[in-house]
Amino acid sequence: MRAAVLRSFERDMDIEDVPVADPRDREVLVRIMATGVCASDLSTIRGKTSAALPLIPGHEAAGIVERVGSGVSKVQPGDRVVLSWAPNCGHCFYCQDSHPTLCDVYGGAASSGGLWDGTSRLGPIGAPIRHYSCVSSFAELAVVPETGCIKIDPDVPFAVAALVGCAVTTGFGAVINDAAVRAGDAIGIMGVGGVGINAIQAARLAGAETIIALDTNIGKAELARANGATHFINAADRDGLEQVRALTSGRGVDHMVECTGHPAAMSAAYAMTRPAGNVVIVGIAPKGTDLAVPAIGFPGSKKRIIGSIYGGGVPERDITKILALYRAGRLALDSQIGKRIGLAQVNDALKWLEQGVQARTIIEFA
Ligand SMILES: [Zn+2]
Ligand SMILES: [Zn+2]
Repeated sequence: MRAAVLRSFERDMDIEDVPVADPRDREVLVRIMATGVCASDLSTIRGKTSAALPLIPGHEAAGIVERVGSGVSKVQPGDRVVLSWAPNCGHCFYCQDSHPTLCDVYGGAASSGGLWDGTSRLGPIGAPIRHYSCVSSFAELAVVPETGCIKIDPDVPFAVAALVGCAVTTGFGAVINDAAVRAGDAIGIMGVGGVGINAIQAARLAGAETIIALDTNIGKAELARANGATHFINAADRDGLEQVRALTSGRGVDHMVECTGHPAAMSAAYAMTRPAGNVVIVGIAPKGTDLAVPAIGFPGSKKRIIGSIYGGGVPERDITKILALYRAGRLALDSQIGKRIGLAQVNDALKWLEQGVQARTIIEFA
């Protein structure tokens, strides 16, 4: 198959011919039809995380089941699927404790760059290429654990399904599961990107009265409003905190959802949240950085700082819920799709993301 292989953080990925091994027990071979280009891919490709190489990135994807390994009962060839980048085992401590995104078996696989047994199906024998989050969708084919396949209806476009594989579910779940926004609440969303737009839409669905979008790019104000924001604040303004308080009876918002991954933005999000409010941290910060909040006031603030990954709930349940809302016309997902390109342009797509492109670039495979 053709795949974009990351061999160095210093240069663009090459499109290479990569051998793919057959799916083993409880694994599925999926033909990728569409994949988004997400900020987490960018962080990994630019060397901001601790990923080992070589690696095929890409984790926001949808496709068609091509072949199944032994013991697979969840899907069959021809099924259309969204791929989960946090498939889970169902049996470990965290799976039993209702935190499937913290699955120990997945965690081990992801850090090994392999699948459940720690080995890779990608690359020639003796020179394996690492899987990325058990997906690796910058490629024509992917071998994934059975539990990473979530069946979708045939009328959902693959590009939309791909978005739901990461950005939509992450932003939606941060608001619905982790912040647990109630009707009438005030919420701030820091960062109007792929995740932030979906957090804004979820806040509107949940009935938030005041939805404040913040971004240092004021060109995103219109986009934020089109998705449901009631206010927009330039996050670079020195009086951003005062502006938030002025909109919330002087208190601060009930919830902040931080989507940028900048530690300074996380501290600002904390300050903008009212006492006893929720600070939901979604953005992935560069390695080696700390989240700083004033220690002296923390106990008395009764604020809750919540780490949120993949929407904080049960991804398969949430993805199914989100696609039902989309089909009912209650979540606007088509408008989030920007350029549609082929795999050969993947390096350009990463540059556009760095430049703050307004909508998601989707790589499609003919
Ligand atoms: Zn992502
Ligand atoms: Zn598990």
